[in-house]
Amino acid sequence: MSSHTKTASEPGQKFVTKKTPKRLRTSIRHDSIAAADYLKYKLPYACEDCSHFNYVESNCTLGYISHHHQRETQKKSYELSGKMALCRFLEID
Ligand code: SF4
Repeated sequence: MSSHTKTASEPGQKFVTKKTPKRLRTSIRHDSIAAADYLKYKLPYACEDCSHFNYVESNCTLGYISHHHQRETQKKSYELSGKMALCRFLEID
């Protein structure tokens, strides 16, 4: 299917090309994790495992939106879909 649409409101009028708007995508990528690995290893996957997590204010000291990466959200996501939104900046000491 073409991403362009041609329309003419009156006979003899030039066709006007309209572009289809870009599709909206989810901004966070979710990665699959094998259930065997999830059960076997203690994977650092949540903000609570990260050096940059501020426990007092429950946020990220680097300024990232941490809600999607916090343990409760990650566990719920994994139980529902088998996927997690792993933070690319997670650091462990
Ligand atoms: S760097 Fe990523 S994993 Fe670490 S606290 Fe910030 S948002 Fe969470």
